[in-house]
Amino acid sequence: MNTGSISAYGEERNRLIVVAVGGNALLTERQRGTFEEQMENVEYCATELCKIIQEGYQMVLTHGNGPQIGLIMLRDSFSRIVRPVMPLYVYSAESQGQIGFLLMRSLCNHVALAGIQPRITTILTQVIVRKDDPAFSKPTKPVGPFYTLEEMEELQKISPFPFVEDSGRGYRKAVCSPEPVAIVESSFIKGLTSLGLSIIAGGGGGIPLVRNDDGTLSGCEAVIDKDLTSALLATEIGASTLVILTGVERVAIHFNTPRQQWLDTVSLEQMKQYYREGHFAEGSMGPKVLAAMRFVEKSGGRAIITRLEKVVDALRGETGTILVP
Ligand code: ADP
Ligand code: MG
Repeated sequence: MNTGSISAYGEERNRLIVVAVGGNALLTERQRGTFEEQMENVEYCATELCKIIQEGYQMVLTHGNGPQIGLIMLRDSFSRIVRPVMPLYVYSAESQGQIGFLLMRSLCNHVALAGIQPRITTILTQVIVRKDDPAFSKPTKPVGPFYTLEEMEELQKISPFPFVEDSGRGYRKAVCSPEPVAIVESSFIKGLTSLGLSIIAGGGGGIPLVRNDDGTLSGCEAVIDKDLTSALLATEIGASTLVILTGVERVAIHFNTPRQQWLDTVSLEQMKQYYREGHFAEGSMGPKVLAAMRFVEKSGGRAIITRLEKVVDALRGETGTILVP
């Protein structure tokens, strides 16, 4: 890296990045969600994420929680006869604690083994949404395990949540997914990064809150998209790069068709056009591309979409889909 002409502040800003890992990277649809499975996935992620810190980047790590919050909801559906259920936003907080702790511990251990002092902590993160967000009228975001039609009909007898069919893979519980508007802790997160810490924050899209008439905030029944929250967080803390890690090395147009074409470096204007043309599936790649576009538009930085294993190569500009102003 050429640092000769960059001021101390410029360099610091340049090395501050937000990295988002999918909830499915931590628990796949084929797994049951045992502690051992989750730990193995977390260890695998931490091995790769450690390379980002070794590369000299300061990282704010965000993560999904779809599979995990679904399991928490399932646990409470079954135990509600003996133990009262909690509101959905409390489950968000619970999943941030659970996943944040596992990621933090594992990442700190890997960093220490690499000979670097681990300076990483987790911030419980609350995100404000609009009370009148149209998303509150329709649950669209699938969470948790996949069920057959028969299983789903059985579960509906005990579960207070509606179910939706998820892209031919089975039925899943559905929750409302409003837009993130502001992140309550972003100034604290920024402050900690200026002390040189890497932070795990915004887990599961953040704990959703609405503003009451008297200005106070209260939790609400929703799960926010973690990629949109990551884009907002990256903008609010002045990160130079937003990295979204998912199941593919690059984003494609005409995905899964004979005309499929992988994208490398794309301008914001070009990506907007592809987005309008409908190349990115709504429940999967769509929100990731939208998050990438929002960050680049608002911050003038770059956004990268790639696979976990390719993250360092992509940060060097050697692979991934890289969105530039
Ligand atoms: P995550 O768990 O990381 O949120 P998702 O499964 O929700 O991941 O979304 C990423 C997936 O979307 C990719 O692995 C790929 O299978 C699919 N996908 C849909 N449209 C596209 C596209 N245009 N280009 C690349 N992948 C796509
Ligand atoms: Mg997803």
